[in-house]
Amino acid sequence: MSINKEELIYKYANLQNIIKNQSYKVNEDEIICPICYNLILFPCICNNCQFALCKQCKIKSKNICPTCKKTEFTNSVFHTKLLSKLSFKCQNCNSEIIYDNLINHYENVCYLFSSKNKILFLESQ
Ligand SMILES: [Zn+2]
Ligand SMILES: [Zn+2]
Ligand SMILES: [Zn+2]
Repeated sequence: MSINKEELIYKYANLQNIIKNQSYKVNEDEIICPICYNLILFPCICNNCQFALCKQCKIKSKNICPTCKKTEFTNSVFHTKLLSKLSFKCQNCNSEIIYDNLINHYENVCYLFSSKNKILFLESQ
């Protein structure tokens, strides 16, 4: 599976906007996965260097940390807490979704919505 660069840049710019407009201020570096440039889903951190990434991206990297090459990871409570403070708007059905429901929403509610378009829009507050 290859993702083209423009798509990544577009996704990333969108996420930056979403993050900037949240009522709860977070640092985008803390919640965007440096591998897939999307919101970190099921965040994991490297026990050695604290590098954070999605569970899926960790698996794709063969469970090897991209920065220090170590292989020990822990689920990140810190990132999960941070992410759970944010809210999103589904581009497909317009409903407000909290982070904890994102995956369920796209897998079970708006599952016909193509994965390519899973760009989340901010719930204006
Ligand atoms: Zn990722
Ligand atoms: Zn590491
Ligand atoms: Zn939806």
